[in-house]
Amino acid sequence: MLQRLKSIQTRITAACERSQRDPAQVVLLPVSKTFNDEAVLQAKGLGFVRFGENRAADIQARVKALGDEGLQWVMIGYVQSNKAKEIARYAAEVQSLDRISLAEALDRRLQIEGRQLNVLIQIKTAAESAKSGLEPAELLPFLSALKPYHSLRPVGLMTMATQTTDETEIRRCFSLARRSLVSAQDAGMDMHRLSMGMSNDFELAIEEGSTEIRVGSALFGSR
Ligand SMILES: *Cc1c(COP(=O)(O)O)cnc(C)c1O
Repeated sequence: MLQRLKSIQTRITAACERSQRDPAQVVLLPVSKTFNDEAVLQAKGLGFVRFGENRAADIQARVKALGDEGLQWVMIGYVQSNKAKEIARYAAEVQSLDRISLAEALDRRLQIEGRQLNVLIQIKTAAESAKSGLEPAELLPFLSALKPYHSLRPVGLMTMATQTTDETEIRRCFSLARRSLVSAQDAGMDMHRLSMGMSNDFELAIEEGSTEIRVGSALFGSR
């Protein structure tokens, strides 16, 4: 895992050099979904504390198994509203907020837990119809509609690019997300995080302004 991490860090540094960015401004979020607890502990040994998971039940299971390890669980997958309770209790952050009904469900459960939660809004930039997320044009109205839900703190945007080898198309997705974040900032929102880029496309994401790449297989090995 250390060799894979070094290789990722080399790729991050090169992408930052190409785009005149500071590598310290790009966070690596390990995505542990489908990998075992042993792999998570190995990554913890390399200094990682936050881990991405894409199912509420998996976050709950991780907390049960690794609750004493001081780790944080970041929800990056589609959240069913009937899982709001588990998310409110066990997740440190949600990067896949994509609808008001979910905001309402989370806020209600967070109030019960007496917690606040950082959220990133998932923007749909990919060409595929299957990808979830909010349409970019809906972002500003969505942010206004979020205001009554005081337990949720919107801190940024998340997106997934089209799954393709076409660099131009991938860049279009990432660039659209970055421009959406700028539009939120222009509207007065204190939002600065841009979670984009996975094992196969994180260099392009960094060149387009990503502040956080979500990396699974490139760190943990192939699934
Ligand atoms: C699985 C997943 C990742 C990581 O994917 P890899 O290709 O393994 O790096 C990133 N983001 C989301 C939303 C995911 O579901």
